[in-house]
Amino acid sequence: MSTIHTALRDLGIQAVNSGGSTGNAWWSGRNDGSLLPSINPATGEQIAGVYPCSSEDYQRIVKESIEAFRIWRMVPAPKRGEMVRLIGQALREKKDQLGTLVSLEVGKIKAEGDGEVQEMIDMADFAVGQSRMLYGVTMQSERPAHRMSEQWHPLGPVGVITAFNFPVAVWAWNAFVAAIAGDTIIWKPSPKAPLCAVAVQQICNRVMQQQGYAGIFSLFIADQPALAEQMVQDERLPLISFTGSVPVGRRVASLVGQRLGRTLLELSGNNAVIVDETADINMAVRAILFGAVGTAGQRCTTTRRLIVHESRYEELVGRLVKAYAQVQIGNPLEKAVLMGPLIDHVAVEGYRAALDEIKKEGGEILCGGHVLNRPGYFVEPTIVRAQNGWPVVQRETFAPILYVMTFQTIDEAIAMHNDVKQGLSSAIFSNDVRRGERFLSAAGSDCGIANINIGTSGAEIGGAFGGEKETGGGREAGSDSWKAYMRRQTNTVNWGAELPLAQGIKFGS
Ligand code: NAD
Repeated sequence: MSTIHTALRDLGIQAVNSGGSTGNAWWSGRNDGSLLPSINPATGEQIAGVYPCSSEDYQRIVKESIEAFRIWRMVPAPKRGEMVRLIGQALREKKDQLGTLVSLEVGKIKAEGDGEVQEMIDMADFAVGQSRMLYGVTMQSERPAHRMSEQWHPLGPVGVITAFNFPVAVWAWNAFVAAIAGDTIIWKPSPKAPLCAVAVQQICNRVMQQQGYAGIFSLFIADQPALAEQMVQDERLPLISFTGSVPVGRRVASLVGQRLGRTLLELSGNNAVIVDETADINMAVRAILFGAVGTAGQRCTTTRRLIVHESRYEELVGRLVKAYAQVQIGNPLEKAVLMGPLIDHVAVEGYRAALDEIKKEGGEILCGGHVLNRPGYFVEPTIVRAQNGWPVVQRETFAPILYVMTFQTIDEAIAMHNDVKQGLSSAIFSNDVRRGERFLSAAGSDCGIANINIGTSGAEIGGAFGGEKETGGGREAGSDSWKAYMRRQTNTVNWGAELPLAQGIKFGS
């Protein structure tokens, strides 16, 4: 395993880095000299710094991205796929180092940091295959000697805004698919994880320079929302793909909506697991533990609510409390550690505020509930007996707090499950085929992801990822998500010598 020093060195991370790039030939400068620090959440200490972009930098990035798009859109899609394959290969070579950097900068354990890089590699492989499968359909024309079909064209330069908690994988979900679709990509990463973005940009720059291209993958690190909004409002970007919280997503959607652009929104979740009378409790315990405690509760798919049949409550919660007591909290780069820190002190305050609210509501804290008295931003994973209607349960607190509720009938469980504003991921643990199918039916879970005997977190890239209601409705990664990055064109060709009108209309003689 790489040390911190070798990981940073191998990824080209300096003590001070530029925050904007369109390729090896151009990295942004110092601007006003203000430095964005990258903080290790396990210690509170600075790892390195990044000079954020200025408004002028943005103008340069977007100009080069538009110019690059004019060339890139005419490169055959399988050739574009080949370049994504080479980036995937470069990521394979740097998987350990980049996994270490993810762990260092956002605090997820090393296994999850490596897993995130693996997800990028898987996404690259998927996109390479997809590059030969940008299929359009043909239709039967109602007119004689006419042929109808549709084709998919590249869309343009797309803006990709990502959240801190998946500092590299979410970019890959978007960027690799957009790239094979013929788009250029301007990435605005989270200012809480700038080094991960700089490292990925270095990898892309190297590969793309060898292939003779620049401006396909660009980096735009902005530490001010106003600068990010400059990108969001830019009419030259037909699509803004946004991953983040509901309040910021709402703002982004309204700004892009005003200019009638397209958005792809991947927002907050409030994910629940139902455990019924017939469930395999061993499986449920493992899935809930990973879902609620993994990434310190900072996944959009984190299990936040547990809806358990009243006959299984004692057994399941007893097992979970025991399992929580075994969770080793600490330096995420240490092998035995299962839970690292929260991202920053604001997240710790959010955890504290939620617990205060729970106590006021009369919720019972079954385990955890404390902020750890040590450097960094560590809290205890927490289980609370709660009620679904409480405002604190209804909102997403980005921390490891699991709310437990009981039910008597499956109707009651599904109603409770769906009675939140978010609609990302969901699961039922049941060995009753009727209940399982009911959960997946049109009258079941209202989420974008619904699982049986698998937890809410840890989706595979092959499926379309995203959620309903306040989660925003976007879909990324696998299945036919590529269509969001392309424009559809319907073509009708008249190869006859007459000009019949559709719907049998006779016009003139
Ligand atoms: P956030 O909303 O605070 O920030 C997300 C991104 O938006 C960052 O890059 C940030 O700099 C940028 N931003 C902030 N203000 C902006 C503005 N006015 N205009 C444009 N961009 C702006 O989210 P976060 O704290 O980084 O991430 C956690 C949230 O993201 C959680 O709610 C989580 O559920 C969600 N998330 C969702 C998914 C998903 O796929 N559904 C995946 C990961 C995270």
